[in-house]
Amino acid sequence: MKNKMSDIVSKMPHPSWLNPTPLQKLHSPIFEQYGVEVWIKRDDLNHAIIQGNKWHKLHPNLQRAKQLGKTQLLSFGGAYSNHIDALSGAAILEGFEAIGIIRGEELAQHPHKWSPTLQRARQRGMRLHFVSRAEYRQRHDPNWIAQWQQTYPNAYILEEGGSNELAVSGFAPLVKDIEQQMQQQSAQNWTHLLCAVGTGASFSGLARYAHEQQNVLGIAVLKDSNYLRPKIEQWINGENTTSKIEATLEATRGRANWQFLTQFHGGGYGKSNEDLMFKIKEFENEFNVLLDPVYTGKVIVAFYQLLQDGFFAPNSRIVLYHSGGLQGRATAQDV
Ligand SMILES: *Cc1c(COP(=O)(O)O)cnc(C)c1O
Repeated sequence: MKNKMSDIVSKMPHPSWLNPTPLQKLHSPIFEQYGVEVWIKRDDLNHAIIQGNKWHKLHPNLQRAKQLGKTQLLSFGGAYSNHIDALSGAAILEGFEAIGIIRGEELAQHPHKWSPTLQRARQRGMRLHFVSRAEYRQRHDPNWIAQWQQTYPNAYILEEGGSNELAVSGFAPLVKDIEQQMQQQSAQNWTHLLCAVGTGASFSGLARYAHEQQNVLGIAVLKDSNYLRPKIEQWINGENTTSKIEATLEATRGRANWQFLTQFHGGGYGKSNEDLMFKIKEFENEFNVLLDPVYTGKVIVAFYQLLQDGFFAPNSRIVLYHSGGLQGRATAQDV
């Protein structure tokens, strides 16, 4: 906890982006049996510290924060939040101070109960404010947010999960990369892409920039996720968008190239069970790709269920989006 910042930075893996990340074809008898081809887009490999989809979401926001002359990044999350982890890493790499508003006031007095995510955030210099669950529920309330802005006038405030319009726009280059990689590997584009849905910003970005005839399947990891639908529709259809990236892409209004599937949450956010853990192990052993039980594990379970239900017509070309999230598996020492 007493490490000097310079020691911490020098211990970090070199911040070189792996871009584009590999698009790996997966081979398995069951895929042949159903006549489908399957790839996994390895965005878990895009960066050691700002991993997976969080990189795409943060990148345009960090640029905006710099343009605005902000010196701090402030956001909200739970004790195991991948977003808080990515934010604390991004701040240190990009020269911002980071402030985390964390759910769970009881943690303030009990640092020994902190998750590896929080310990690492503190080691990286993130300032942590612990708030009660009741307070945390106000995280979308403009008045509450305005209070934080008053406390930290130099802070660029990011929504929970880093999910806003700019974050959605961050998926344009990713969709292009996957298309190019598909063309190199199979001369044809993908037909289906599966991704995990927390707030829905990543899913919305993928659907917004995919072609009309493609099908992006969002797998909800929270129970009763239907309340996210209006927000997702708004993001996908690009209302109130001002981002340059979007303006350069073809107009994408009112598209129907996506399905939001809410039946695969497996009991709710962060809930795992023997079946989920077994299927994750099986996949990890077969393909040598690590998964996390909160997000990507549920995508894999959904994929196999849909496959067995005959959801994918023969000759479907399916991309599983590995959105990262492996920080929860690391230990606190692995800064
Ligand atoms: C945060 C996260 C998600 C969810 O992203 P949203 O844009 O909030 O839907 C999915 N997968 C992983 C690994 C994540 O860390």
